[in-house]
Amino acid sequence: MALAIERSAPVLVTGATGYLAGWLVKRLLDEGLTVHAAVRDPDDADKLKYLERVARNAPGRLRFFQADLLAEGSYAEAMAGCRVVFHTASPFIVHVADPQRDLLEPALLGTRNVLNEVERTPSVTRVVLTSSTVAIGADNADLEKAPHHLFTEEDWNTTSSLAHQPYAYSKTVAEREAWRLNAGQGRWHLVTINPSLVIGPGLNPYGTSESFRLVKQLGDGSLKNGVPKMGLGVVDVRDVAEAHFRAAFVPEAKGRYLVSGHNSDFPALAAALLDRFGDDYPIPRRVMPKWLVWLVGPLLNRALTRKMVTRNVDLDWLGDNSKSIRELGLQYRPLKESMVEFFQQMVDSGLVKKPQG
Ligand code: NAP
Repeated sequence: MALAIERSAPVLVTGATGYLAGWLVKRLLDEGLTVHAAVRDPDDADKLKYLERVARNAPGRLRFFQADLLAEGSYAEAMAGCRVVFHTASPFIVHVADPQRDLLEPALLGTRNVLNEVERTPSVTRVVLTSSTVAIGADNADLEKAPHHLFTEEDWNTTSSLAHQPYAYSKTVAEREAWRLNAGQGRWHLVTINPSLVIGPGLNPYGTSESFRLVKQLGDGSLKNGVPKMGLGVVDVRDVAEAHFRAAFVPEAKGRYLVSGHNSDFPALAAALLDRFGDDYPIPRRVMPKWLVWLVGPLLNRALTRKMVTRNVDLDWLGDNSKSIRELGLQYRPLKESMVEFFQQMVDSGLVKKPQG
């Protein structure tokens, strides 16, 4: 796969302090590029130190810029002179007080804000947007109407709303807006990366992405009585970073890319941890029956509504990653490796503690 890497122009990464963005920034710096890292708070030394450490050991150059998704014009300085814009910033949280304010507005208005800046910045010729498989299909029940019962880049999520799967809704609306803005012009090329659930160690071991919470609860005892058999796709964070890198520098990269290493489910994610951690941590070994999840799920977890259970538990998630392999040359890491390395990091950093007694 021939890459055309232009080192003379800087590249912009929005949300550079994020879980996924960390590995992307590392990949770009290792390649010798100048990275403009847009962050909400450039004085948060605790968050920036992981990126600074990477930059010290890489040939590329790192510069921080302050920017907020909701502040019109705030990406102008960071974007000036850049050839490529990677727009990764968007909240990935499931428990929010106000889905409109906490999810939809940063995702949609933020995408509009960044792309309006691209319109005003003549040096930008390519935008790589981090979308999600949830913009393709968020409920496993939607597979029923997908051709061949397999999610592909052709599919769009039509069943999420502010009331049902609001995070998925925010990603769908934001990606649609990006394609709408892209269609109105001819200078910049848009490629979207649509990853499934991202797993694997973070550059920052104390990441706040929902990925950390989901994997942590497989070992902290909160699911010791069993996990629902809910299908989902998973992919290693380093593979997602590589997908972004290639989407920017493979000249022929085009359209959407479903980036998912494995069609899996929660019991399989738990099982991947058993060999290494099963003796010391309360890793779930049982599947919780759907009727029980339906009954108690909403009491334990606000996001696990009855509708969510009905449309997802005991149903497979199947995604077709062949376009990403064919056109970006991606090679996906084994699921077990990503899970074990991620959980080991949580043990080492003290995020997950061995139960007493
Ligand atoms: P993350 O670690 O929470 O990263 C989110 C980033 O967005 C952070 O850098 C955060 O900045 C920034 N951000 C949030 N609100 C902002 C605002 N108002 N202004 C400026 N920056 C803001 O989550 P992640 O998992 O890496 O997610 C990165 C991207 O991947 C998101 O677009 C997400 O939807 C997408 N994605 C994630 C997964 C997954 O499983 N993790 C799967 C598919 C797609 P602070 O550090 O200042 O909070």
